[in-house]
Amino acid sequence: MDVPGDTYSTPDAAEGLTALRERIGDCQRCALGATRTKLVFGAGDPRARLMFIGEAPGRNEDLKGEPFVGAAGQLLDELLASIGLARSDVYIANILKCRPPGNRDPLPAETEECTPFLEEQVRVIDPVVIATLGNHATHFILETQRPIGALRGRLFHHRGRCIVPIFHPAAALYDRSKAEVLFDDFKRLKAVLDRVAENGRPCADGDQPKLF
Ligand code: SF4
Repeated sequence: MDVPGDTYSTPDAAEGLTALRERIGDCQRCALGATRTKLVFGAGDPRARLMFIGEAPGRNEDLKGEPFVGAAGQLLDELLASIGLARSDVYIANILKCRPPGNRDPLPAETEECTPFLEEQVRVIDPVVIATLGNHATHFILETQRPIGALRGRLFHHRGRCIVPIFHPAAALYDRSKAEVLFDDFKRLKAVLDRVAENGRPCADGDQPKLF
């Protein structure tokens, strides 16, 4: 799926993201444009090797226009710190750029309208590793409907990138047993990043699930 209009073939990722943000503008492609406070484009290093993809902005993100600024964001910061990373080392975006009312799940039509923007972000940033947070991001990126509980803890090679499905940090706010699992999954994510640092871009096309 392509973003309508031009693509951004500039070698400068920051310029590419700025151009994409300008094109999105005051987007009203789906009904969420009418109910959002602020559009949440994404944040982080435009040339990050690791990109996180979450579900959609929540109340705090909608107010501030930044991803993961609430309690789930605080946990994400702790998880990043546990593997020696900060937000400035990674890029964070969501499947939807506007908040669904009441934090309900994204509707298929909303996902269809909004994800061309995410796909363009991925193309411009060109991360080696994508960590998908929760069911919606994992289903979209891996083109599957299998539950996150069956996919986390595994490394997938898909469209030339390493995909690491992880529980959404918000899940641990309601179920503390998931926090331990999240920290374990970040250790596995670190192992993938170390492998990337040693071998460059190790993930080939195809979908090759592997326990590690
Ligand atoms: S969710 Fe995406 S498609 Fe819908 S209005 Fe917001 S930016 Fe546009």
